[in-house]
Amino acid sequence: MEEDKMEERILLSSPHMSGREKKYIDEAFDTNWIAPLGANVDNFEKELAEYVDVKAATAVSSGTAALHLALKLIDVKEEDYVFCSTFTFVASANPILYEKATPIFIDSDPETWNMSPKALQAAFDYAKSINKLPKAVIVVHLYGQSAQMDEILEICYEYNVPVIEDSAESLGSIYKGKKSGTHGLFGIYSFNGNKIITTSGGGMLVSNHSEMIQKAQFLATQARDRALHYEHSEIGFNYRMSNISAGIGRGQLEVLDQRVQERRKNFELYEKHLSEIEAIEFAPELKGTTSNRWLTALILNPEKTNVSSNDIITVLAQNNIEARPLWKPMHQQPLFEGALYFNHFEKENFAEYLFENGLCLPSGSNLSKADVIKVINTIRSLFHLSKVEEKELTVN
Ligand SMILES: *Cc1c(COP(=O)(O)O)cnc(C)c1O
Repeated sequence: MEEDKMEERILLSSPHMSGREKKYIDEAFDTNWIAPLGANVDNFEKELAEYVDVKAATAVSSGTAALHLALKLIDVKEEDYVFCSTFTFVASANPILYEKATPIFIDSDPETWNMSPKALQAAFDYAKSINKLPKAVIVVHLYGQSAQMDEILEICYEYNVPVIEDSAESLGSIYKGKKSGTHGLFGIYSFNGNKIITTSGGGMLVSNHSEMIQKAQFLATQARDRALHYEHSEIGFNYRMSNISAGIGRGQLEVLDQRVQERRKNFELYEKHLSEIEAIEFAPELKGTTSNRWLTALILNPEKTNVSSNDIITVLAQNNIEARPLWKPMHQQPLFEGALYFNHFEKENFAEYLFENGLCLPSGSNLSKADVIKVINTIRSLFHLSKVEEKELTVN
């Protein structure tokens, strides 16, 4: 038994149930609301809106669906420009293609690893010069860290362009006293299995414009006009969240703040016990922000070591530990070949640097102390450092 457990693969980020989910699932069964609507859906929306402090929310089948709805509500159409962070997961940009619009990618800055206000300004300068402003800007908050929202919003307000926050990875994070996802016109969250809380799969669209959220619900239920006979005057989607999934979400939401603390603790342990390795630079936490530290992300400064991020990923894999490179920038993806791209530094692409030198460590809120020690010691051994013992594993 004990040995079996030792051999279990240490995963990057796995689902972590609280035990409270079943009560809500049972309620769905007891009332026979086994459908993409019901009390759990309504209450999950209400409870999440309260948690992040927005006026309205709609629960949908995925974070990607939520982003797609946001673009529809902003009326993004064929050939419109949409600015989007280049350093992200492809789901941030795919909905732009669903609408046959044209993505323009924006580099990251060293302060947040997220959208660079400087590169964004350069993109706006260009767009203005050809007299074609973007319809929307999608700002992604990766690994829990918020982008520089004050600076980004100021630029976008100047051009009167709405902002969509892709907060799929930053639910529970705070930027200057307000929850991530509540600063722009729309925010989206994801409850995929690997996210900080999960519904097995699902997403949420939030906004302080209640009428837009109402419209989103209409679009997400096949755009059915008010008529008994199913009248349709515009294209709709089947994007609503199931009442069972929403039940899982309600149970998960109750422990979200706890999950944030647990993930932050993982980060602190890694930071404390790996900081002897001078080449390691952990993902920043901008002043005035609290990251949920969804994943502990770091880069290896290539000027300070010959060990590459791939070397670490390989040695961890040999020890049955899952680690991953950082997201490959969208402007480097074959899918987006030829897309315009604006960088932060004149000669260097910061997002490319992050991708080439970075990795994510196992960060689940359900990692045991032994798991964290194993990861730390596997990396320490690669740098010929002594092992830390369980009793030494403290934050302070
Ligand atoms: C997970 C994720 C999404 C998509 O969420 P799904 O629920 O999987 O559709 C979007 N953007 C980012 C940055 C993500 O990490």
